[in-house]
Amino acid sequence: MLRTIRRGALQALKSSGVFELTKNSKWRQQRLLILCYHGMALEEEHKWMPSLYMHPELFEQRLNALRAGECSVLPLGDAIARLYRNDLPPKSVAITFDDGTYDFYAQAYPLLKAHGFPATVYQTTYYCDYHEPVFHLICSYMLWKRRGLGIKGIQSSGIPETLDLRASAGRTQALNQLVGFAEREKLSEEQKSQLAARLASVLDLDYSDLVRKRILQLMHREEIAQLASEGIDFQLHTHRHRTPLDERLFVREIRDNRRKLLELAEGSASSHFCYPSGVYHLEFLPWLGKEGVVSATTCEPGLASIEDHPLLLPRFVDTSARTPLDFESWLTGVGVFTSRRRRRYKAPSSTGRTQAADSQL
Ligand SMILES: [Zn+2]
Repeated sequence: MLRTIRRGALQALKSSGVFELTKNSKWRQQRLLILCYHGMALEEEHKWMPSLYMHPELFEQRLNALRAGECSVLPLGDAIARLYRNDLPPKSVAITFDDGTYDFYAQAYPLLKAHGFPATVYQTTYYCDYHEPVFHLICSYMLWKRRGLGIKGIQSSGIPETLDLRASAGRTQALNQLVGFAEREKLSEEQKSQLAARLASVLDLDYSDLVRKRILQLMHREEIAQLASEGIDFQLHTHRHRTPLDERLFVREIRDNRRKLLELAEGSASSHFCYPSGVYHLEFLPWLGKEGVVSATTCEPGLASIEDHPLLLPRFVDTSARTPLDFESWLTGVGVFTSRRRRRYKAPSSTGRTQAADSQL
């Protein structure tokens, strides 16, 4: 119902010329739209998790909309520098991807290249040398693939005796049991893969095929190196996709991530950061500053303005559920006024935390 009202309102704003006026306003020119993407489906991931995965055809439509809207698509670092110099070109946009999964290499990069658009990948690096899918994500995906199924009397180590996959609650319960088992038993990455393979066998799925297709895997080091040499900008997203509230551990995540990126993408300065899962605390800001991080992005919806703290820049998280009209409203700037308001943190004494629908890699 709300969605229908919102769509009607957007249509009315477009027809009455508000889109056009806002798009060409000084207000919009002083703002930067940072787009946030996660994954591009290799098979059915966009149906499994539409908030994280998008069909590449839809992504191509987005790139066409950027072109049709005459947006100035800038490299992230340049865009942020120009934002704070109050020197942005009209309708400026920066494109960012979180995590750096293989599907970026296979699906998103060729489209970006064809359009000549620059992009930044916030790369988490722990799994880059590990040629298997991320355990809890592949388990979730496989359980979803067998939605509707109920299996009793399972005798396989680490797998619940009964799997009821008919509703999402049952699938979540099964996933929690699998992840809980892996944590309790302190399984190594190799043992977790074996458990995922056993689950596939119980579900009558071809695990080796999923591995071969690189579903839910991060890019490997040679893929990152290749894309970096072709101009993709790789930036910080922590090594293990986590942000501990302990300065020593937090700093270790940044340093390990940076070291790895430097190794893979020669000459990469990696001074831009994205909070994994969109989770942030104001305590992180001085820690990031001391590590030489000059910008950090959240998943709070909004267009970045000169008034924003550079370590708390908002983004527009684009998903499969966004209509072309909705996307266009964000390019023009109108989307800011029709979406839920974001919190703006100014006082260093307050605490902030937000959780976005992001993968825990
Ligand atoms: Zn992430």
